[in-house]
This record gives sequence, C-alpha cells and structure tokens, in this order.
Amino acid sequence: MPMTDILEKKFLERDDIKRLLAAEGEEYEQLLQKALAVKLSVLDNKVHLRGLIELSNICRKSCLYCGVRSDNRKVERYALTDDEVLGCARLAHQLGYGSVAIQSGERNDREFTDRITRLVTQIKQIDGGSLGITLSLGEQSEAVYRQWFEAGAHRYLLRIESSNEELYYKIHPRDERHDFHKRLECIDTLLRLGY
Ligand code: SF4
Repeated sequence: MPMTDILEKKFLERDDIKRLLAAEGEEYEQLLQKALAVKLSVLDNKVHLRGLIELSNICRKSCLYCGVRSDNRKVERYALTDDEVLGCARLAHQLGYGSVAIQSGERNDREFTDRITRLVTQIKQIDGGSLGITLSLGEQSEAVYRQWFEAGAHRYLLRIESSNEELYYKIHPRDERHDFHKRLECIDTLLRLGY
C-alpha cells in the first residue's frame, strides 16, 4: 500500500505502524509533510507557550521507569512554597502565556489536596482568571478532582503508559499503589467531570 494511503487512514493496523516507524527517504518526507499539515490545521503556524510549574518530586508511587519513584532513596526531595508557585504563575501571566500547568509527584493526603485547591483559587484571581490551569497530579478521588475543577482547573494530564494490562504491570509494581483499573477509572472520572 502506498505511504500516502496509510497517512490518510483514521485507524492504523499494526503493519501500518511498523511502516511509519521504519519510513525512510521519500516515505519519510511524506510522513513529515503529513505531520506538518495536521499541526497547521490544529495549531496554525504559531508556537503556543505554557508555563510548567514543577511543584514537587515527592511521590507515593514507585513506577519502575521513573527516577523520582518513592523507592529511590538517592533522590533529593523538594517542594516549592506557595509563594514560589504563585510567583511562577504571575510571571507566566506577565509574559503573556495562556496557561500554566502544575505538575507533581502523586500525593493523596488532605493537606496536599487542599493546598492545591487553594493554589488554583489564588492563580484564578490573577487578572480576573485569564490564565488557564492544567493539573498533572496523578490519581485522586472523584471528590478531589471535582474540588479542583470547581476551583478553576479545567485540564488534567493523566497518561496511561500502556492500555495493555500485562504490559502495564511490567513497568509498575503489583501492589496497592499501582492499579491498572484504578488508572482507567480516573481517566473516565476526569472526562465525566468535564476536564
Ligand atoms: S506517579 Fe509519576 S512521579 Fe510518581 S513514580 Fe510514577 S511516574 Fe514517577
């Protein structure tokens, strides 16, 4: 099948993906042209800047591929103060960024989740709430996701490293902190709440 036909497909078969990954020469150029066309159709010929705030590397989980997993005792742990986070958000706004993303290792304790609610509320008060807020803070209860949404966070980054359960457990320990089905439930919950 010609590369151009594969590039027009909505759903790719395994063999299509292999062709794309192995593309060289003219086929590689076709792939790049297609990628550019998709980018221009969605984002125009512009660079969109987002302010990424790395809140903390303290995490209760231990994903096997991750340098800051909790079982790695060699890592120096840190957490930004509220003032530092709000300072970053103000700077992002002054520089004309459309949004900030707050990212951190996963914590589920009340002190942490309430703190995030407070920070989101305070960031929303900068210039009448023009700054969009994305959160990337791992798996949380529905109540917490709702609390953060109502405070003003409307995008959430929660990836799943593999949608294949067997593969998932090759890169996550099998324990109560790492649950494939819980991950899927969290993604569904986020969608249902309107993130
Ligand atoms: S939840 Fe995120 S930060 Fe924590 S160990 Fe896994 S990948 Fe690393």
